[in-house]
Amino acid sequence: MIINAIEDNIFVVRDDLYPSLGGGNKGRKMDFIGSKINKDGLNAIVTTGGIQSNHCRAAAIYAAQNKMPCTLVIHGDERRFSKEGGNAKLMRDAKATIVFTEANGISDAMDSAMDLYKSKGYSPYYLRGGGHNLEGGLAYVEAVDELLKNSKIRPDYIFLASGTGSTQAGIMAGISKNKIDCNVIGISVARESGRAENIVRESYEDLCHFLNIEPTQKSTTKVLDDYLCGGYEKYNPGIKELSENSISKYGFPLDTTYTGKAFYGMLNHFNDKKLKGNIFFWHTGGFLNYLAQP
Ligand SMILES: *Cc1c(COP(=O)(O)O)cnc(C)c1O
Repeated sequence: MIINAIEDNIFVVRDDLYPSLGGGNKGRKMDFIGSKINKDGLNAIVTTGGIQSNHCRAAAIYAAQNKMPCTLVIHGDERRFSKEGGNAKLMRDAKATIVFTEANGISDAMDSAMDLYKSKGYSPYYLRGGGHNLEGGLAYVEAVDELLKNSKIRPDYIFLASGTGSTQAGIMAGISKNKIDCNVIGISVARESGRAENIVRESYEDLCHFLNIEPTQKSTTKVLDDYLCGGYEKYNPGIKELSENSISKYGFPLDTTYTGKAFYGMLNHFNDKKLKGNIFFWHTGGFLNYLAQP
């Protein structure tokens, strides 16, 4: 695990450099989910996401590596999907079966794909969008162990881009497991705070229950929606500028959908609140989103 110091008290956890399945948090989650697929003897995958979904890309590459068929239920425009680079290209080139649907047709389309695999004699794995399940969270409990092994500096704050919430929940559970005092703050990329916090809290409690650890972070679950800019894939001029200057200024990419939004939110939040202590930014990936953005 690589950690870059960008200021005396600001550190960046480079999970964008996670080495397999195209990297980032979806690569890390999918590796963990893959062990479960393997252990349970399953041999096909059905999952869902948007046109530039990092999760669908990781799932499609995992399936290709393991020679199993994979169906991706994509909500979004078919023409845009066939033209775009980045994750869309990797999904096409992994030769996943793609089913397009409206947002309200996702669960029906996933059920049909599951039935189709079963009718052909497969044992398919139903994978929630974003890799949002127990294994996805457990991947991040382990990642915190890895961070603490690799860094002598203890984090007082960890900031990250929060979407489905399992990365944040896993980090919170990792902090509880290691009995350290640290505020984990999610910057929401799509949902309003109340809903986002409920989902993170729920996943966190499931993880604590599963691992039999004290849920020390439960009452401080925090996901900020001040930087949503109207929703998923939306951004403001400040985020755009930060993204465009990220390589020259920091030497790593910050995309406008995930990590740029979160990094922008982090800088604003700790300036506003005059936070003191060691601040860790958990860089969750998004390089392919960065490359695909205008
Ligand atoms: C999916 C994603 C997130 C959010 O992770 P969740 O576990 O869904 O909250 C953050 N950053 C990047 C780059 C992602 O692809």
